[in-house]
Amino acid sequence: MISDLMLRLSQRPEVREAFVSNAAATDLVARYVAGETASSALGVAATLEEHGLDVLLAPIGSESPSREQVHQHVDLCHETVAAARPHQGIALTPLLFGLGHGLAGARVLVREVVRAADAKGLPVILDMGPTEVVDATVQLYRELLGDHPGLGITVQAALKRTPGDLRRIALSGARVRLCAGAYGGPGAMHRRGQQADLAYVRCLRALVDSPAYAMIATHDRRLIPIAEDLIARSGRRAQDYEFQMLYGVRAIEQRRLVDTGRRCRVYIPFGPDWYDYVARRFATHPGRWLRALWRGQR
Ligand code: FAD
Repeated sequence: MISDLMLRLSQRPEVREAFVSNAAATDLVARYVAGETASSALGVAATLEEHGLDVLLAPIGSESPSREQVHQHVDLCHETVAAARPHQGIALTPLLFGLGHGLAGARVLVREVVRAADAKGLPVILDMGPTEVVDATVQLYRELLGDHPGLGITVQAALKRTPGDLRRIALSGARVRLCAGAYGGPGAMHRRGQQADLAYVRCLRALVDSPAYAMIATHDRRLIPIAEDLIARSGRRAQDYEFQMLYGVRAIEQRRLVDTGRRCRVYIPFGPDWYDYVARRFATHPGRWLRALWRGQR
């Protein structure tokens, strides 16, 4: 698949170096990443909130972090919790806490951040990583849920296991985000095209029909109206679901949703170590990013 190839290429040190030292590339990144610090992300959040959007602060970092990078990331998360306002939210990616090296170490660190967020009433959602960490992430979610019933979790429509996970997870009081899935690997189906859309709609129907709070994360022009239709038929009230989109992607659609009475939450990625996040977004839409880069060079 082209996106997997692009992703492998992006991990080569020379590609990384060329990208981060290229002015057109870093200008482009600034459209999708809200700076390197919690305060820059909060500045972006304030602007979005003026337009009626909700926000989710998302500290980003290396997906295969060294011990030192894990500690820097944990510090960034604690700073973010301290600076955020309770009506906002924070997204935590267990992979960035070293989950790839085992659940034991990551569990302690994620729990501390969740506890601090809970103490100030700041909602937390766990992002979902590649297939190798899905079991561990679901286990972590279940362990934390007892003490933190408001904790949210992400499921990926591209995984064959997700309909089963939804039956077990999307219970009353749960907060569940459905996304297409940004990772390949064993157990994952296609992430683009008709099969991917069908898988998304199947999971969407299960989520909308469940008693869980539904967070619908997509920018797709066909999937959003389908979601609106399923929600209208289900009789869900406006406060029982929300759309979620990434900062910098389809900003006009984000505003349209809010202006027509829906809740739309913008995921605001930020952090000094933004490369892996950008590489993954790049791999999802390589043509779009290459065209934008090309325009920026001229
Ligand atoms: P697509 O069909 O990919 O995109 C639809 C249209 O949106 C495109 O045609 C384009 O116009 C625009 N668009 C989408 N992405 C971009 C982009 N990067 N740059 C420019 N334009 C773009 N994935 C995970 O695996 N785990 C997670 O925890 C996770 N959390 C997420 C949280 C949020 C709030 C969102 C919105 C996505 C998250 N994702 C996560 C990513 C998700 O899995 C998809 O990879 C991503 O949303 C693209 O799929 P799509 O359904 O939006 O539609």
